[in-house]
Amino acid sequence: MQHQARCRRFDPMPHAAGSPEITQSGTAFMTRTVYLNGQWLPEDQAKVSIFDRGYVFADAIYEVTAVIGGKLLDYPGHTARLKRSLEAIGISMPVSEDELLDLHHTIVEKNGLDQGLVYLQISRGAEDRNFLFSDNLTPTLSMFTQVVPLLANPKAETGLAVISMPDGRWANRQIKTVQLLYSSLAKMEAKNRGADDVIFVEDGLITEASSANFHIITKSGVLVTRQLSNALLHGITRSSVLSLALTAQLKVEERAFSVEEAQDAAEAFITSAGAFVMPVVSIDGTSIGDGKPGKTTLRIREIYIEDQLSRAMAR
Ligand code: PLP
Repeated sequence: MQHQARCRRFDPMPHAAGSPEITQSGTAFMTRTVYLNGQWLPEDQAKVSIFDRGYVFADAIYEVTAVIGGKLLDYPGHTARLKRSLEAIGISMPVSEDELLDLHHTIVEKNGLDQGLVYLQISRGAEDRNFLFSDNLTPTLSMFTQVVPLLANPKAETGLAVISMPDGRWANRQIKTVQLLYSSLAKMEAKNRGADDVIFVEDGLITEASSANFHIITKSGVLVTRQLSNALLHGITRSSVLSLALTAQLKVEERAFSVEEAQDAAEAFITSAGAFVMPVVSIDGTSIGDGKPGKTTLRIREIYIEDQLSRAMAR
């Protein structure tokens, strides 16, 4: 789509069926009135902060309600699920049930929607990026409509062709996506339980930390780190640290290991762009080694920082 075609002017006049305009590409479209945090706005004037947690952490929930003849279908089911979703991730409902229903009717009326969908999204709100969120955030509530021929859908005549795929929701952790809701909630849980971070375990084996790679140094001095796969993010810091470890003649093994093996290790640490090399001193209350940052870990941290500073890129 041409950029011009997406820069729509708003028709301030209420209209029964939206105002068709012709874009440079010749496509007619309707200018919608959308809802954002208590305001009715032309769709191109509704702006959400880039710090909104829905945008940065996928920390949001949504509902979609069908509309036929201007009436809401299955509305009680959708609001009930909306409440369940909000409760599950600890976001409070920003409006009352009556207000929510009124918003649905109003958005249908304002857009003269006969057949289509009402989309509603509630995010936890905006604040500076941090996996740990504040408890006083104001949720972001946005709504828009879409005209869809639900009844006269031609696909109902022809049927759908589908393909099968492994259910990979979400088995692709090697991709650095913003789908970080689980990690954020996990980090909050760690905080609530008096810990600093979480290591994730799958099939009894550690994958990585909530926002870092996890490594151990065995009692015989071997640096063990999980091999790369779609089970973990391929950390850039991890890669640099492994190169430095090999240069420093440290033995490195890339394999999976359990929580028990990690608890029994001499040392443990995480790596990430934000933490560099950070010692881990206990897992689930069990001390690793003497419960203090390991000497080898701290040496690797020094070497890493020294190496990075010697190679850091200036303009
Ligand atoms: N694993 C996860 C899940 C992460 O989110 C991160 C960093 O954000 C890392 C590992 C470490 O990657 P890097 O060293 O590239 O920062």
